[in-house]
Amino acid sequence: MKFHITTFGCQMNVHDSDWLTRALESRGWEQADEGEAQVYVLNTCSVRDKPEQKVYSELGRIAAHLKRDENVFAAVGGCVAQQVGRGFFERFPFVKLVFGSDGIAGAPNALECIAEGGDDRVALLDFVSIYEERETSEERTVSLPDTRQAFVNIMQGCDNFCSYCIVPYTRGRQKSRLPDVVVEECRALVESGIREITLLGQNVNSFGQDKGGVGVSFADLLYRVAEIDGLHRLRFTTSHPKDIAPEVIRAFGELENLCPSLHLPLQSGSDAVLKAMRRKYTQERYLSIVEGLKEARPDIALTTDLIVGFPGETEADFQETLNMVERVGYESSFSFKYSDRPGVAAVNMEPKVSPEEASERLMRLQTLQNNITKKCLENLVGLETVAFIEGLSRKQNGEETFWKGRDPAGRIVNVAMPESDGLIGMMVPVRILEAKKHSLMGERIGIPW
Ligand code: SAM
Ligand code: SF4
Repeated sequence: MKFHITTFGCQMNVHDSDWLTRALESRGWEQADEGEAQVYVLNTCSVRDKPEQKVYSELGRIAAHLKRDENVFAAVGGCVAQQVGRGFFERFPFVKLVFGSDGIAGAPNALECIAEGGDDRVALLDFVSIYEERETSEERTVSLPDTRQAFVNIMQGCDNFCSYCIVPYTRGRQKSRLPDVVVEECRALVESGIREITLLGQNVNSFGQDKGGVGVSFADLLYRVAEIDGLHRLRFTTSHPKDIAPEVIRAFGELENLCPSLHLPLQSGSDAVLKAMRRKYTQERYLSIVEGLKEARPDIALTTDLIVGFPGETEADFQETLNMVERVGYESSFSFKYSDRPGVAAVNMEPKVSPEEASERLMRLQTLQNNITKKCLENLVGLETVAFIEGLSRKQNGEETFWKGRDPAGRIVNVAMPESDGLIGMMVPVRILEAKKHSLMGERIGIPW
């Protein structure tokens, strides 16, 4: 069977799609370009905007391939699948499988069964209260680029119910994996040649604080993974500020392979808005965490998520967000206009900020962020660092070949080096020559290893 997966949304969805790819390949299925596939999988996201529309229009495009082969069918997974559920079967008869994020573990078998004519329609939409382990394939897939980087899920779902967020409704309640299982997966990955691991969860700081917990905190887990021999870089995402433990902050000063970067979503700088968002921290508490992090690791690069135009956000509230962005000096940020999501508490909050006002605030925020990003990158010119090469850079100038790598903080560093095989997954000592808008240019100053 030939399959094609399209992924929308966050890192967790990307990771889920990678896992599904491996699971299908281990059954002898092959990845194919759109138009060539017999099975189409859409892994969806419903955090913002009009996600259902996006999925419907993708399915409309896929419908065109049915004319070629009536055995072609589709599966819809992820957050939109969880929300719309069996509704997809009625609207699109060629959709034969819907699965939520808790149902993904059963998706490869369900797809196989449908392809063999065993089942007509399958819905994997039940929430589970204990993390369901997924099958592992012995071989890392050959069709994913071998960047020697891996993501490892440590939990699924979220218990926080921030008032704007749909995630707890679509991905279910928090369920942690067993720490031994996580450590073993990381160890096996490193033994297979992986050099960088990112631990993933909606709120990694509350790891273990649910039914699946066995008294091992996130800090304990971090120390256990960090000591795996041969692991060069360790990262984690995402961190809720209310749950970050002093031990995790301290880890940035103690663990050599823990990268000096942290994504710490602020969402808003105004205490009133934070309260309405149910974030359970204040501006002051957030700043004290930042202070602790900078003390533990002075070169730490902080990034964040911000929402503008939350219901009730005044110009003064927004100014507080701008002030915080400046005070913390984020290297970069993801900023979004608030969007009403069905069923979340903020839908009923008033007054709504007009779309024009929200757009204008977003533009001001992004202009400020671009200026700060520029200064942060300029401050690095002349310094030496190590770029972990991920592939060829999109920017090529014709004469030289540019490779794209990342420094320990995760900044993109483009380096001119001859086009020879084998640089992907290598560490290259570099000196920073120039700062671009969102990336750095470097020159090689040592032998890749
Ligand atoms: N668990 C992570 C956390 O707590 O930071 C992030 C999860 S969410 C998938 C990613 C980001 O989307 C959030 O940090 C928030 O900034 C944004 N987001 C979530 N719901 C939103 C909404 N209704 N409107 C606009 N942005 C939203
Ligand atoms: Fe959504 Fe808040 Fe959970 Fe993040 S912590 S996934 S923003 S509910």
